[in-house]
Amino acid sequence: MKEALLYDKLEDQKVRCNLCNHRCLIGEGKKGLCQVRVNQGGTLYSLVYGKLVAENVDPIEKKPLFHVQPGSRSYSIATCGCNFRCLHCQNHEISQMPRDESRIIGWEVSPREVVRKAKASGCTSISYTYTEPTIYFEYALDVAKLAREAGLLNVFVTNGYMTSEALDTFHPYLDAANVDLKAATDDFYKKICGARMEPVKESIRKMFSLGVWVEVTTLIIPGLNDDPEGLREIARFLLSISPDIPWHVSAFHPMYRLMDRPRTSASTLRRARELGLAEGLKYVYCGNIPGEGEDTHCPRCGTSLIRRIGFRVLENNVKDGHCPECGEAIQGLGL
Ligand code: SF4
Repeated sequence: MKEALLYDKLEDQKVRCNLCNHRCLIGEGKKGLCQVRVNQGGTLYSLVYGKLVAENVDPIEKKPLFHVQPGSRSYSIATCGCNFRCLHCQNHEISQMPRDESRIIGWEVSPREVVRKAKASGCTSISYTYTEPTIYFEYALDVAKLAREAGLLNVFVTNGYMTSEALDTFHPYLDAANVDLKAATDDFYKKICGARMEPVKESIRKMFSLGVWVEVTTLIIPGLNDDPEGLREIARFLLSISPDIPWHVSAFHPMYRLMDRPRTSASTLRRARELGLAEGLKYVYCGNIPGEGEDTHCPRCGTSLIRRIGFRVLENNVKDGHCPECGEAIQGLGL
């Protein structure tokens, strides 16, 4: 076990975890909501430090990050656990294992070894993904520091529920993030995810202001978050930060405890994309319907810049971060 960062010691051997916005008050011998942080004798420990449960070489497009080193590979890791309990979690076997099965599994991999494997496999970044990186913060931070020294980018794929303090600590090593903004209402966050919406929006704002490259994903679930007004609200929120933030609207399929909803239709996604573009976002992409709405076009002259199918980049015409036709700057990292 590794002593946790970002917590307060309180009276009667209680602790307050300040890692995510649940800010759990944890009595001696108890765990936080995520079930991967335990209070022993008034000291808070991480139960997942260095215990990987997933380790893969992925295209960075799978995160999805479309404006970060297009066509590159990202060494993608995760431990068990999550601070959300989304009813439709695609990775519930590992994210919810500590809660659903009261167990934590994983193989020991040191931070140095993660970085070595990432370099050896030709990756140019490390993605902290699949589950929620915030809950393995101490491990991610140690990996990220070494990754930065080794010239690799660090990428979070996150629900955005970390505290401001957590971001202050991590951001010097964080290059990019894909943040889920799951819906436009607090009600959705409460009922479907067991969390609140505002802290997620705050994280998106803060990451952007700290210079982290941010892309945002909204998984559109029929009947739950697909009304045009709500989607418009999300688009306007992103626009209020920057029109350069790419927005990924992706298709739901029945999963875990949300089996009573149909798949998202291609026409719903198409409409969401058009709505985002009409609001003024420069880049809106469809996800989970390969071959549709995945290309990057110049927002000024419409030239096709990056052509993709699924997670594959077929063609990249961006020249030093600019459109080769009209010279428009295309924002991102390593474009
Ligand atoms: S990370 Fe979040 S859910 Fe886990 S103990 Fe800390 S405050 Fe609670």
